Amino acid sequence: MSQLEHTSAQYRSLRLSAIGRDLVGLVSQAEANDLSHLSFAQMLAEHEIAERTRSRISRHHRQAGLPLDKHLEDFDYRHQTTITKRQVNALLDFGFIDNRENVVFIGPPGVGKTHLAIGIGQKAIQAGYKVLFRTALDLVEDLELAEMKGELKKRISQLAKFDMLIIDELGYLPMTAQARFNLFQLVNALYEYRSIILTTNKDFTDWGEFFHHDNVAIPIIDRVIHHSNIFMLGGESYRLKQKTSS
Ligand code: ADP
Ligand code: MG
Repeated sequence: MSQLEHTSAQYRSLRLSAIGRDLVGLVSQAEANDLSHLSFAQMLAEHEIAERTRSRISRHHRQAGLPLDKHLEDFDYRHQTTITKRQVNALLDFGFIDNRENVVFIGPPGVGKTHLAIGIGQKAIQAGYKVLFRTALDLVEDLELAEMKGELKKRISQLAKFDMLIIDELGYLPMTAQARFNLFQLVNALYEYRSIILTTNKDFTDWGEFFHHDNVAIPIIDRVIHHSNIFMLGGESYRLKQKTSS
């Protein structure tokens, strides 16, 4: 075993795996640039840190379960004029996550609610936050399963490990009373503790009806909209526009 291989193995056994893996390149880079000992020491530390950050972000990306690769850079504000780029950009310092506030996108189908939610989710992951994307339907199924196993509390606390939960498409499909109750338990657990981005086709005035005027309807609305950034999106469906212009 060469000296280099031996040293690489030692770094790996110290769990400095990026240095261990890339030592050959790092050493020759240092030699080529005539780095001082201190600069080389610094370079090794920075390399390990940068690689750990990169792999943490890519792990968060996988865990987020974003259904599509949508980016804010591709969002066309000339088509969607009921929200401005400035309003969206204002969310990207993620003060809303740090302050445990919510974001709600309300509007008819095709106006870009899911695109915006995913785009903001991507940026939050890049910024180091843990994000989880679920459609309301998936989430409700997930909670129902946990509830049947007697593990609702446990499941909710797993979900509460994420800094931000994106709940997509609430209101499109009816829910059972048990589902509404489970959802209330979740929203209650996240209230003032974690952030939610919610997309929905239902205006708050229709929520009572959607929740069958359950005694959970008002408390859910109350918790979601208290400390929240609400955007009412309108305009015509982007999908229809694409159809008609092609
Ligand atoms: P919603 O969730 O409001 O029903 P989506 O976000 O799913 O709508 O948008 C429907 C499709 O149109 C998606 O492919 C989305 O990327 C695209 N889209 C919607 N609005 C815009 C926009 N303003 N600029 C670019 N693409 C858009
Ligand atoms: Mg959608």
